[in-house]
Amino acid sequence: YCDIVVIHFKILEYNIIVLFNMNKNIIVTGGLGFIGSNLIDLLIKKNFHVINIDKVNYSSNFYNVKNFKFKKNYKFIKCDIGDLKKIPKILSKYKPRAIFNLAAETHVDRSIDSPKQFVNSNILSLFNLLESLRKLKKINKKFKLIHISTDEVFGDILKGRSKENDSYKPSSPYAASKASSDHLVYSYYKTYNLPIIITNCTNNYGANQHPEKLIPKLIYNIINNLPLPIYGNGKNSREWIYVQDHCEALFKVFEKGKLGEFYNIGSGINLSNTQIAKILLRISKKYISTGSKVRLKYIKDRPGHDVRYALNSNKMKKKLKWLAKINIEKGLEKTFKWYLENKDYFKFLNKRDIVKRLGNKWLKKV
Ligand code: NAD
Repeated sequence: YCDIVVIHFKILEYNIIVLFNMNKNIIVTGGLGFIGSNLIDLLIKKNFHVINIDKVNYSSNFYNVKNFKFKKNYKFIKCDIGDLKKIPKILSKYKPRAIFNLAAETHVDRSIDSPKQFVNSNILSLFNLLESLRKLKKINKKFKLIHISTDEVFGDILKGRSKENDSYKPSSPYAASKASSDHLVYSYYKTYNLPIIITNCTNNYGANQHPEKLIPKLIYNIINNLPLPIYGNGKNSREWIYVQDHCEALFKVFEKGKLGEFYNIGSGINLSNTQIAKILLRISKKYISTGSKVRLKYIKDRPGHDVRYALNSNKMKKKLKWLAKINIEKGLEKTFKWYLENKDYFKFLNKRDIVKRLGNKWLKKV
């Protein structure tokens, strides 16, 4: 009789463990990229079991996952989110509590040269992911899709700050593809009751970001004694948020966000590209002696370059009690130091992708 009780107890214990593990499963898509890898780092520290799904493109970097790649609660699966065979299998195997969707083509200049890639990845693959999730809903009702989007969907905001319910007016193929993805995700909530939340965030900076983007590009050039390229007159203004602040916000949204809602995520701090370059130059002088070629160089502007993006993030502050913590000076210094101490990060990338200017072929034609 005692044996039977023990066996029953063991089965119960096993079931609890399985259930517990299931509840700890979270899928992050695009986790070899900049924000995804920082988010996984946070989730692993919070003891979640993270399944990273990434198709592995030029901006993916295995250096970004080096700190947790051998951890028991981390698994990498190479897969496109649009794969209609593999994704449903992964979803039914892991029964995730949440899916953070960060998989996307993300560089505006690339979207000018090759918009089709952006339509394929950010719209068509995303559509397939939504279809796979619609099927998962039948198996596992307790999950939510957190779809990560951008402030660029609102287009040029010369004055004031965009609110969640402002209309979308994207200017670049990248922003238009993200706007389309947001609309699709929301339509699956309204039509199929898919449990979703959409977040729109401002420009991120921090460790693990590909040097095609402004801040790591400037840092790379400072370290390598190269001029600091600034588009147009350098007055384009962006709202900057440290990536860890963004990841904390995403976690808050996962814990406390309301299904079917949009949340703006920003720091409230806008700076022009010239201001960013000058702050980085000042910081760099504390750590290295910069070469003679390191100075601001104004180059031909990007076509359709929006002058300003800015978000109103009061909903995050009031409803979810979230606030960005890292101020821009401190964040830029941490970022500069990270690239200085992690020069191997660049070795994992194709040098052509770092130094070649993109998105300007169209300019030559006009
Ligand atoms: P990133 O380019 O550094 O990484 C994107 C990752 O997604 C890459 O590893 C890539 O291989 C993967 N990927 C792309 N398409 C995929 C697909 N179809 N299937 C599987 N994997 C795919 O990008 P990031 O800067 O980390 O941005 C992540 C997300 O956050 C994007 O959706 C972006 O629009 C959004 N976002 C970024 C910023 C920013 O400042 N970087 C700001 C707001 C929102």
